[in-house]
Amino acid sequence: MKFSNLGLSIQIQSAISKKGYSSPTPIQLEAIPAILSGRDVMAAAQTGTGKTAGFTLPILENLSKVNKKCYANQVRALILTPTRELAAQVHESVTTYGEHLNLKAEVVFGGVKMNPQMISLKGGADVLVATPGRLLDLYRQNAVKFRDLEVLVLDEADRMLDLGFIDQIKEIMDLLPSKRQSLLFSATFSPDVIDLAKGLIHNPIEISVNTSNSTAEKVEHYLYPVDQDQKTDALLYLIKKEKWEQALVFASTKHGADQLVKDLNRNNVKSAAIHGNKSQGARTKALADFKDKKLKILVATEIISRGIDINQLYQVVNFDLPKRAEGYIHRVGRTGRAGESGSAISLVCAQEHEMLQIIERLLQELIPRRELEGFTPVVPLAESILNTKPFKKKKPKKKKIIIED
Ligand code: AMP
Repeated sequence: MKFSNLGLSIQIQSAISKKGYSSPTPIQLEAIPAILSGRDVMAAAQTGTGKTAGFTLPILENLSKVNKKCYANQVRALILTPTRELAAQVHESVTTYGEHLNLKAEVVFGGVKMNPQMISLKGGADVLVATPGRLLDLYRQNAVKFRDLEVLVLDEADRMLDLGFIDQIKEIMDLLPSKRQSLLFSATFSPDVIDLAKGLIHNPIEISVNTSNSTAEKVEHYLYPVDQDQKTDALLYLIKKEKWEQALVFASTKHGADQLVKDLNRNNVKSAAIHGNKSQGARTKALADFKDKKLKILVATEIISRGIDINQLYQVVNFDLPKRAEGYIHRVGRTGRAGESGSAISLVCAQEHEMLQIIERLLQELIPRRELEGFTPVVPLAESILNTKPFKKKKPKKKKIIIED
């Protein structure tokens, strides 16, 4: 699915391409059409899922479709965030995605002077991003009005409640027109969040996406420590011993993939490779042959680890570990799709230990190890120690989180 199929204008699509996004994330795929339709939305989504664009893009689309004037101090879309830092980030996204639109976006938060914010709100705003406390202060000064409000977003609702904003949010709700679109985003849905949602959201479309850093639940995954030069023999042994019908095997280089295919075919295991040096025709044919079960093994490099959907694929093999840790999740995600169970195994040699540790840190679990009879490595694979400190998402600017006062 592409952004061009989601009903967004050329201007917005052009801003998206400039950001370098090639396709929508799962939350965007669901949230964009839902919000464009005008319905209320309740979405379970964490930071890092692309949720900000998930609500910003359709809001900008809807606002720009109706050529409405901004009246003095009035706002058309209000986005509430728990922290100043998040408010600034969301405002930056609104500005970026709305680059080619004739819409005005403002941001207000506490801890800085109120006067400049009052001045900037004089002409009204199509989109206002705000933290609750400062918004109420500005309202009391008549600097912001809600007569023309069309849409409300509560971003990170669970965090708002954790930070004790419940009374302020309720106070704001009472000031808004009842005929409006309401969108609630939250990483978790505790009873308190659900309670809040009840008074806020009507007949919503509910959206929930898996967090990006998890392997598919029904996939059993484990690794065999083996020597590098034993990997091909180990794979041939497994294919035979475990009577695999078919397997998708990942190799880290194009040359390695081609070599493996040669070795497998020489051993009468029908195989083909699919990678970036193959023509589109050859790639399509290999994939079609694999789906038609004319091939037993499809050897692939990273190119097809995302998005490819092969029904009933039970076996995935990492002949080499991926070069980037996220690749492990994408590769393993090729099996166990749509409720099917699956198994993903990795052949790991001593030289790959560092990468293994990075993957295990990303997964926040150690990949179970099994011994492969007859292939005990001469150079042993070191034991892993789990680094329980999760990776942090890179934040573009300020690192400090400033809590609204
Ligand atoms: P968020 O969950 O909104 O905090 O977004 C997390 C990160 O994903 C941000 O750095 C966005 O710029 C990025 N992002 C959002 N949508 C996409 C997309 N469709 N493709 C790639 N990156 C994206």
